[in-house]
This record gives sequence, structure tokens and C-alpha cells, in this order.
Amino acid sequence: MAVLFFLGFWLTCLAGLWLWKKSLFIATWREPYFADTPVLIESDDWGPGGDFHAERLTQLLDMLVLHKDSVNRSAVLTADMVLAVPDVAKIEATGQYHRRLLDKDFPVIYQVLQQGIQQDTLVPQLHGMEHLNGKAFADLCQQQDPRLTTARASLDWWDWEKLDSPLQGHYVDGRNLPTQAISAADANSLVADAMNCFTRMFGYPSLSTVAPCYLWNDEIEQSWQRQNIIAIQTAGYRCTGRDETGHYFQDPPLIRAGNINRFAQVYLVRNVMYEPVDGKNTPTSAFAEAEIAYRQALPVSISTHRYNYTRSQEECQQAIAGLDQLLGQIRAKLPNIRFLASPELGEFLQNKTDNIVNRFNQRQWPKLELAATYRKTGAFLYRLYYRHRKLALIGYCTGLIIPAWLICKTSL
Ligand SMILES: [Zn+2]
Repeated sequence: MAVLFFLGFWLTCLAGLWLWKKSLFIATWREPYFADTPVLIESDDWGPGGDFHAERLTQLLDMLVLHKDSVNRSAVLTADMVLAVPDVAKIEATGQYHRRLLDKDFPVIYQVLQQGIQQDTLVPQLHGMEHLNGKAFADLCQQQDPRLTTARASLDWWDWEKLDSPLQGHYVDGRNLPTQAISAADANSLVADAMNCFTRMFGYPSLSTVAPCYLWNDEIEQSWQRQNIIAIQTAGYRCTGRDETGHYFQDPPLIRAGNINRFAQVYLVRNVMYEPVDGKNTPTSAFAEAEIAYRQALPVSISTHRYNYTRSQEECQQAIAGLDQLLGQIRAKLPNIRFLASPELGEFLQNKTDNIVNRFNQRQWPKLELAATYRKTGAFLYRLYYRHRKLALIGYCTGLIIPAWLICKTSL
């Protein structure tokens, strides 16, 4: 009798929940669910730099090659590429913006990037033509603005990460706050130039991209579409600008992996933070996030910027050792993992290929398996549980958490 009572009660609760949250349930169910767990390592800001960057990157890739997935592919760094830095001397002499390019002016790091591509431990992805706004930079240079003192004093290479944060945006003018979006015409020519350079440097266009400082808008997405970009890497939101106090303005504030925008581009989402130089993340905290992604049948997308590897030698060693530990834990504890680069996941989600193809070195890997219904149901319940506190609370109050928990645990 008690069993029947509970079944009746739970069915009534489910009917109520369905009436209340039908559209949420349908949208969540329609998201992609993976049987194989894609593991991506997204690393922003590689590009022009001191020759020591080449040594650091070599050490990082030498570690990645030792980690193999369920089809014996090595771990692969999706390197988010900055293609140029300002040519300050030439800008000062002419008053116009001029560039120093990654391949021509920084051959040592460019060579290591090429080796990584051939070794299948590195896949380049467009970050930006540069990590600043060129026009704004040239104007500030002419005005001898104090914010550019360090840049103007450096004869060879200088790190854009030392610029004031609002000046590091690429698709906005951050000279004054609030930031101003660049014009549609400027966006189109900037993205077209970047794609030409990228293709010349790496032999294939970038199918996916991530905007510097996560600052972009609809017009930038349209410019990307004109260059056949099919996937956009995000941190789970889009920022279109910064307000007068410097705060980022989010629109939309929430993006799920697999969401499609108005230009038919698919969004990818970083969900594991491994930025140890910031002092916030450890291999342990990153693995906890990876496990939560796995339970939800989501890709594990690790964010780890270049600066973790290009500051002191000691910080670099610790960051590499920690990433090594994290990848080791992921391989040991999560089943059926697949190391992928972001454009490959983008192509898979857009149904562009059967097999996984690394377009930069022509290597192919078996296709990814999506979750069958029972695993998908468990992962669906996990997604509701982790994302919606009210639903979790209702689960506890009604006892629905018990059958949900049973499904979740037996479906993994
Ligand atoms: Zn960046």
C-alpha cells in the first residue's frame, strides 16, 4: 500500500512539475548528451612572445603527448591564437597602425606551434588578429598616452597582458568607459584579415573562435559567419561591452554547450577552470568540476591561459605538473574519454563529419558516441539538479530525489 501511495504521490508531483517547467525540461532534453566524454584543453593567448615561450610550450606539449585517450589519441591543446602585435616604432613614425606578425617576426615560437600541430598535441584556433584594438592603440600612441608608456619603451617584444584591462579588448574600443563596439565595416575587414593570416600561417581556416576578453556582439558573430566560422567558444555567457565602472555587460548571461545562435553557429562552453597562477584553482578543484561535467554527459572543457606557463620558471613547472595530475585523474576515473580540439567538437555538433578529423594534420579518429536513453535520462536529471536549486529542493521535499538518485547512480 505504501508503495502505491508513493507512486501515486510522485506521479502527481511529476505532472505538476511538467505543467510548471515543461519548456525547461524540453530545452534541457534537446541538448547534446555524450556517451564518450570529450576532454578539451582550451588555452588562450598563444602568439607573439619571447623566445622562452617556445621552450615553455615545448615542455607543456611534451607532457600532453604522454596522456592517451580511449582511442589512443594524445591530449591536445586548443591554442587560441593571437596573430600579431603592434609595431610600435612604425606606428610612432607614421601615425597609422602597423603589425608585427607571428610567422614572420616571431619564428621561434611559430616553429614550435607547427611542431605541435604535426605531433597532434596542438590545434590552433583564432583568438584575434591582435589582443587589443589597433585603431585605438595607434591614436593613443600618437597622443603619447601614459597607458602606453611600457609598450613604447620596449624595443622588441612586449606583453599586451601588461596593458590596462579595457585596452585588451579587440572588438571594442576601450580607451574610454563605457567601451564602444567597433563598426560593422571594421569588424568585417578585421575578421577577414585575421582569417587570411590564420589560413596562411596554419594551412586551414579556423572553424571556431573565442573573442579576446570574451567581448563580442551580434555584428562580430555575423562577421565570423561570413568567414565560415561554425562554433564559438565561451565561458557560458557573452559580454558585449563594459560599463562606465568597467563591469562587463552580459548578453545573453547564460549559454549552454550546444546552443545555436541566430547565425547557425554552435556555442561551446568552458566548464573546468585550471588557472593556477591566479591562486584560485588546483588540480583537485578542477577535477571536481570535470566530474560534475561527466555526470551531466557534457564535454569537459578545461580553461588554462598561456600566462600560467609564461611567467616564472617555477610557476610554469607547477602549472604543467598540476595539469599532468589533472589529466591523469581524468583518465583514471572517467570512462571513455576522448581528447578533442574545439573545432572538432564544433564540427561534430554541427553534423559536418562522421569521423573526428584534425584539419591541420589530416589525422582521423573514430566518431563520438552520444548517450543512449538511460544514460541520457540520468544525465538529464543531473543537469536539472546542478542548475536549478528550486527543482533540487522540491526533489528533497517530495522524496522524488530517491528515484532520481537511483537512476543517476545506475546510469553512469
Ligand atoms: Zn585572451
